Amino acid sequence: MRGTGSVANKQDFCFCIPIVFGCPNKIKQEGDGTPYVCPRCNNAQVVEAKSRMWFELCWIPLIPLKSNHVWLCGICNWQHSRDGGFQPQAAGAMPPPPQQPQGYDFKRLSSDPPGGISGAPCADNLLVWNAVIFGPAETPFEDGTFKLLMTFDEAYPNKPPSVKFLSKMFHPNVYANGELCLDILQNRWSPTYDVAAVLTSIQSLLHDPNPNSPANAEAASLYRENMKEYVRRVKQTVEQSWIDETEDASANADEEAL
Ligand SMILES: [Zn+2]
Repeated sequence: MRGTGSVANKQDFCFCIPIVFGCPNKIKQEGDGTPYVCPRCNNAQVVEAKSRMWFELCWIPLIPLKSNHVWLCGICNWQHSRDGGFQPQAAGAMPPPPQQPQGYDFKRLSSDPPGGISGAPCADNLLVWNAVIFGPAETPFEDGTFKLLMTFDEAYPNKPPSVKFLSKMFHPNVYANGELCLDILQNRWSPTYDVAAVLTSIQSLLHDPNPNSPANAEAASLYRENMKEYVRRVKQTVEQSWIDETEDASANADEEAL
């Protein structure tokens, strides 16, 4: 007998000890708590704060790493370094100047774009965006280039933008007119979401539909009962999306904006 059983048990025991470490940021309010107006969401919820990174073991902060002083919005999580000299408008001092939160979104989207999405405001109207979602790999939507139109109103990001597909789409949660049934664009919206977050959610909806709240009954029932035919119909829309590409998308967008 070589007692392999007890060796295996020992190994199991070792693998069971969870050692979790990370370097999360902890935010602490500083100053006297005077509220400033957020340049992204326009709420008077910006305060001075210190953001400090901690080395953490099993969720217990052990070693303080670098820290920096930031402006922080309590509503939409907008953050900006306080070192550069930029200061938001003090609340109540005077009416805030007209802001364009979409400008902040564009900066974020162009400096650190998540894979498979892109978007930019129309040249003459920051409130209307053209966006593209590339079909996720290893799904029936692979290789598709799907165009979307996003329309913002003045209340954004306190209210969600309205989003619709311009490209023809065959999907359980997309209506025939291109509008979407997606919780974060309706009752589960949060001002912390930006354009990148919205497009990323739509991209993951493509390969992970919710057939329980169908916007396209035919697509939903094929998805549940006839996957082969569902995939065939989706591939048709993928091919259609390449043909759409040769058309002038900006003409569509201008029509929508009116
Ligand atoms: Zn804000």
